Amino acid sequence: MNLDHLYQEVILDHYKHPENKQLSIDKDVQVHHVNPSCGDEITLNLSLNNGVIANVSWDGEGCSISMASASVMSGLLQGKSPEEATQILESFMELMQSKGTSKGDEALLEDAVAFAGVSKYPARIKCALLGWMAYKDAFLQIQGKSK
Ligand code: ZN
Repeated sequence: MNLDHLYQEVILDHYKHPENKQLSIDKDVQVHHVNPSCGDEITLNLSLNNGVIANVSWDGEGCSISMASASVMSGLLQGKSPEEATQILESFMELMQSKGTSKGDEALLEDAVAFAGVSKYPARIKCALLGWMAYKDAFLQIQGKSK
């Protein structure tokens, strides 16, 4: 495995300077997810306001892929409608399932296309998806509450 290719500059940059990595007190729900195969952990706070994702904040510990991916996810989804966020989430999941054959939809995924190379390494896909799955879980819980 060539780490030079895997850990691209954008991933390292998000790892070193993560976005929204401080749990906001403004939250509708909080979830905690772990990726036992690597030891990554994330706590994520999510709040919706007026039909948009008002706040995605998180804290966690783990490998650079998991932390960088959570950072990218939080920056991307903040301010989006739940429908837009679902579209982005599904696009990212498709990219992770592409086994290295997809470059990703940059218009939709922006910095998240940097994780395209991760899809070649099955053991790391769960790292990249950790933050996104935490978001999905939190969003489903908010939806469940509002019914
Ligand atoms: Zn990991």
